[in-house]
Amino acid sequence: MSRGGVKSLDLAYDPRMADSQDELIASARALLDAASSITVLTGAGISTDSGIPDFRGPNGLWTKNPEAEKASNIRYYEADTELRAKNWALRAEGSLWANVEPNLGHRTLVKLEEQGKLHTLITQNVDELHQRAGSDPAKVVEIHGTTRKVGCLNCDYADDMEVALDRVRAGEPDPSCPKCDGILKSKTISFGQNLVQGDLYRAEVAAVECDLMFAIGTSLAVSPINRVVPVAQQQGAKVLILNGEPTEMDKLADVVINDSISEILPQIVG
Ligand SMILES: [Zn+2]
Repeated sequence: MSRGGVKSLDLAYDPRMADSQDELIASARALLDAASSITVLTGAGISTDSGIPDFRGPNGLWTKNPEAEKASNIRYYEADTELRAKNWALRAEGSLWANVEPNLGHRTLVKLEEQGKLHTLITQNVDELHQRAGSDPAKVVEIHGTTRKVGCLNCDYADDMEVALDRVRAGEPDPSCPKCDGILKSKTISFGQNLVQGDLYRAEVAAVECDLMFAIGTSLAVSPINRVVPVAQQQGAKVLILNGEPTEMDKLADVVINDSISEILPQIVG
């Protein structure tokens, strides 16, 4: 193990290795207390306790519904009306996680906002649970979009997902755009689609302007949004990571806690 070109036993100098869980929590609290402008980046880990399944695990969404995985690729989705119909049917019957509620993790993040410390909440999740927990939608950047809204692939039509699902339940297997008859899709960023430039820009500004970057429930493996962590760090921000497992960017962090998010987050956000 070597860091920064220093060889041999420098592991012993890594304060994180020696810290007990209590000390880590105290260190994380100190980072939050000292910060005045916090950018939060959340991933799937914060929604796990709400019962949102992962994609590729034994009970994963895509393991149980291979068609849903195929539908998440824009090429197949655009080309295959039958695939779209199956996907609409799954959504309409609630098989693609319908009635999930925010958990204590989501609700705790609202406190950062109430304390006046939240710069921006960037989320990789497409479940809108932050907004439903009470986060100000104007502070949230949904970098991968949302499944709670529907949009046209051809024009600027957009509406609540339920509007499209009501049409499916009323007998339209593959509802088309009411404005231009184009293909409708959930407003998520599918494989093969570009991120929304305005959202990327907001995320970058949030990384540059914050004095604490707080990554929660993300392995920080998905590019390009994971870049906000090194960008913030290079600008002098502190970095705090809370995740179930080690992440790709732990070495950039001032404090790393690997534990349950809904248990630890309330302990570190006062
Ligand atoms: Zn349209």
